Amino acid sequence: MGTPPYYGPDFGLLQKQDPELAQVLLDELDRVRGGLQLIASENFTSPAVLAALGSTLTNKYAEGYPGRRYYGGCEVVDRAERLAIQRAKKLFNAEHANVQPHSGASANLAAYAALLQPGDTMLAMALPHGGHLTHGSKVNFSGRWFDVVSYGVRRDTELIDYDEVRDLALRHQPKLIVCGATSYPRLIDYGTFRGIADEVGAWLMADVAHPIGLMAGGAIPSAVPYADVVTFTTHKALRGPRGGAILCTEELAKKIDRAVFPFVQGGPLMHAVAAKAVAFGEAMRPEFADYVNKVIVNARALAESLSGEGMRAVSGGTDTHLALIDLRDVGVSGAEAEQRCAAAGITLNRNVIPYDPEPASITSGIRVGTPCVTTQGMGPQELKEVGTLVTRAVRHPGSAREVRERIAALLAIHRPYLSEY
Ligand SMILES: *Cc1c(COP(=O)(O)O)cnc(C)c1O
Repeated sequence: MGTPPYYGPDFGLLQKQDPELAQVLLDELDRVRGGLQLIASENFTSPAVLAALGSTLTNKYAEGYPGRRYYGGCEVVDRAERLAIQRAKKLFNAEHANVQPHSGASANLAAYAALLQPGDTMLAMALPHGGHLTHGSKVNFSGRWFDVVSYGVRRDTELIDYDEVRDLALRHQPKLIVCGATSYPRLIDYGTFRGIADEVGAWLMADVAHPIGLMAGGAIPSAVPYADVVTFTTHKALRGPRGGAILCTEELAKKIDRAVFPFVQGGPLMHAVAAKAVAFGEAMRPEFADYVNKVIVNARALAESLSGEGMRAVSGGTDTHLALIDLRDVGVSGAEAEQRCAAAGITLNRNVIPYDPEPASITSGIRVGTPCVTTQGMGPQELKEVGTLVTRAVRHPGSAREVRERIAALLAIHRPYLSEY
C-alpha cells in the first residue's frame, strides 16, 4: 500500500473514522496503479481537480444560476460557477455555457427537452454503429419519448454514410439531428451535418462527450462553430471531474438553462462545478494542447501496433483518442478478450463493431483508448509495446503472467498519481 497523496488533508481522519470505506479508496488507487487502463472514456484528473471535488462546496444548495438563486448565501459559490462559465465560453469560443448537468446523459436529456416535444422526430447515430444509449435506444428515455430515425456507417468504409444521413433527413424531416458517438474512431464532418440540418430546417446537436478534450486542446476541429447545441462530459479526454456541460448559441441560451434547471435537475453539485472550472483552466494551458496531441499520436501508435499483429482496426485506424478492434479474424469474442486482458492486468471494454453478428453482451470487438496512459506519461514507443501485450493477452491466455510482468515494468516508470502534471 503506497502513500495516498491525493485525498486531501483529512484522509487520515477518514481512515480513523471509517477504515472500511478508507480501504476502498486505497484499494482503488492500488487497482489503477497495478494495471493498464485502456478504457477510452476514462482519465486521471489532476490533484487540483480532486481538491475542488473534496471541498465544502458540496454542502451548498444553489438552485438557479449565478445572481438568480433560490437560496441565500450563494454569493461565494456564484464565483465558482461564473468562473466555470467564463472559462468554458473562452476555451470553446461559445456564446453560452451551462455547466450544471450532472452527467453527459443529463446534458442530453436537457438538450432534447429544450428543443423537442415528446413524439417529435430526431435523427441520430445507431447504437450498434457507435452512437450512445441516449441517442434513441429503446432502453433509454430518448428512444421512448421520441420518434428516432437512425443512421450508421457504410459497410465497406466503416465511416459515417453522409448520403444516408441526408436521404433520411429529407425523408423523415427530423426536428433535431444529433451527431457524435461513443465508439467512432474517426473525425466527424460537422460542416456536412450543418448543411443537412439547414436543408431540412432541423436543429443540429453535437454530442462530443468523447472528443471534447481533443477540441479543447485544438488537436481536432471543433463542433462549436457548426452546432446549435453542443453537449459533452467533463471526465473523458478533457480530464475533469465526472459531469456534463452544454454549449449553445445565444438564441438558445434561455431554453437550455431552463431545461437543465428546473426541468431536468434540482440543485447543482457546486463542488463539481468548481472542479469543472479548475479543469477548464487546466485545458487552457499549452501543456494541455501538448497532452491531447500526444493522446492522438499514442492512439495511432497503438492502433498500428495492433493492426500489425493481425488485430484489425475498424475503419483502418484512428484520428482520435480511441480505436475499435475487430477480433473476428482472431477467433476470440470481445467478451473473452476483455476477460483475458483483465487476467493480464489490462483494463479495456468489449464493444460492438459495425454490423456485428454478436449481441452486445458478447460482441466481436474491443475498444481501446489512450487518455489514461498518456496522462501517465507514456509515448508512442510504450504504446507500440502495449499493442503487442494486448495481442499476446488476447491470443494466448496462458501468457497472462508474463504480460502482467511486462506491464508492471511499464507501470514502475509511469504510475498514475505519482508524477506532477
Ligand atoms: C459518455 C457519453 C455520454 C454519457 O455520459 P455519462 O456521463 O456517462 O452520462 C453521452 N454521449 C456520449 C456520446 C458519450 O460517449
